[in-house]
Amino acid sequence: MMYDVIIIGGGVVGCGVARELSRYKAKVMLLEKTNDICNGQSKANTAIIHGGYDAKPNTLKAKFNVLGNAMFDKLHEELDVPIQWNTSLVVSFNKDDHPALEKLLQQGIQNGCRGELRIIDEKELREREPNVGSTACEALLVGSGGIVCPYELTIAFAENAAMNGVEFRRNAEVTDLKRLENGNWQVVSAAGTFETRAVVNAAGAYSDVFNNMVSERKVHIRPRRGEYYILDKKYRDVFHAAMFQLPTKMGKGILIAPTVDGTVLVGPTAEDIDDKEDKRTTAEGLAKSLREAGRTWEHIPMRGFITTFSGLRSTGDTGDFVLGEPDDAPHFFNCCAVESPGLTSSPAIADWLSKDIAAKLELAPNPDFNPIRKGIPKFREMNDEERAAAIAANPDFGKVVCRCETVTEAEIREAIRRPVGALDVDGIKRRTRAGMGRCQAGFCTPRTVEILSEELGISPLEVTKFGGTSKLLKEFLFEEGKNDA
Ligand SMILES: Cc1cc2nc3c(=O)[nH]c(=O)nc-3n(C[C@H](O)[C@H](O)[C@H](O)COP(=O)(O)OP(=O)(O)OC[C@H]3O[C@@H](n4cnc5c(N)ncnc54)[C@H](O)[C@@H]3O)c2cc1C
Repeated sequence: MMYDVIIIGGGVVGCGVARELSRYKAKVMLLEKTNDICNGQSKANTAIIHGGYDAKPNTLKAKFNVLGNAMFDKLHEELDVPIQWNTSLVVSFNKDDHPALEKLLQQGIQNGCRGELRIIDEKELREREPNVGSTACEALLVGSGGIVCPYELTIAFAENAAMNGVEFRRNAEVTDLKRLENGNWQVVSAAGTFETRAVVNAAGAYSDVFNNMVSERKVHIRPRRGEYYILDKKYRDVFHAAMFQLPTKMGKGILIAPTVDGTVLVGPTAEDIDDKEDKRTTAEGLAKSLREAGRTWEHIPMRGFITTFSGLRSTGDTGDFVLGEPDDAPHFFNCCAVESPGLTSSPAIADWLSKDIAAKLELAPNPDFNPIRKGIPKFREMNDEERAAAIAANPDFGKVVCRCETVTEAEIREAIRRPVGALDVDGIKRRTRAGMGRCQAGFCTPRTVEILSEELGISPLEVTKFGGTSKLLKEFLFEEGKNDA
């Protein structure tokens, strides 16, 4: 089978590129290793739309951060992705740190950060954020700082790309890449062997592997783990802005950040590790998150934590994103080492890269491209009238499956039926929030498994949490139809 472009990796970057390429007449396929898209860094990050003050000037990080930041209002309109412009504050806790704040301010100006960017004094800081710690003395205010739902962004990119003709294959790990004599690429994957005119390398933590297979310009990625706590929604209003501390050489430091869904993140740590799959949380890492965040919020309520998680940054050895076609590998396009601010940068990387690919492959515009994608209607956000109308149109809206997040059966079924729909329990969670609330899926999992089994036409015993061997049920204790014994 011959393709124009094959994209390796279904994170926010790969799915963003897929959507942008669907603006052209081209045969495009995305191959994702795991059972679902959005299973790498794109699902486990702080979800900040960064203003762009932190990246070193004249780097790709600085350029794409600022360009990407400016694209989120349009993405919200076209793809129905939740965002909030809640500002970012970089708080200092020592008067001696004033020069460091000043440096960030100048860096932000040089990088071309949009909107308000200024240092605020303690009085204004406390007026804005009365719960900030007692030693806080001033802050950099970043008006263009915001928050986004990273899953919904990635899934929206993928759904819209699929609506516009991109093919998605999951459980399709790419294992080899070869240049053919005719100049095309052969892509060997768990879903088959394919020929393509161009390859996009968006394999996240493994993007160095593919770059190094085809180019002499080597890149090495060492994962940098970040561990977090998530706090219950009742703490959403403790802080309005994303509350950063001064960055360190390991990254942007530990922060307290509200999410668009109303929970609060505390973290992340930054620890270089060797195993690209080691997504554990550790007692030491979590304790560090708490200790450092304790300067920003002195009374973090331990009983408010609902869960913990970690994410692995794709930290490359060049200090910057590695993007585009290497000189020695024509028609191989890198989105390599896209660590933070990669979520913010993803729309701009996708826009720039797809234009470059289209020019080099001489792709014509797709006259049928439709940029609009609507999200799954959220019962929890409807008023009483809307709820009544939704239930009248589809009685499954009247059946609440996840009580913590008020997610209905209608939403869960739609999450499975959509293009690039959910195939497992975690996929339902990312598309609807069922299981993301206070009880952490304790109550809704059995019904979610039943619905997945019905919709996918598989036995409940085959339903998984996240694909592979992660089955949730071992055997039926009773024969079917006799289980009320
Ligand atoms: C702790 C942490 C905090 C962060 N906070 C922020 C933030 O607040 N704001 C911000 O802008 N950015 C942030 N980032 C960065 C951002 O999350 C990433 O830059 C972005 O998600 C990268 O997306 P990606 O698509 O390149 O990678 P990924 O999301 O990792 O996707 C890569 C995909 O490739 C697949 N894959 C790998 N190998 C293969 C193969 N052989 N075949 C097929 N598929 C393969 C993987 O399964 C995965 O799905 C943070 C990152 C971390 C880890």
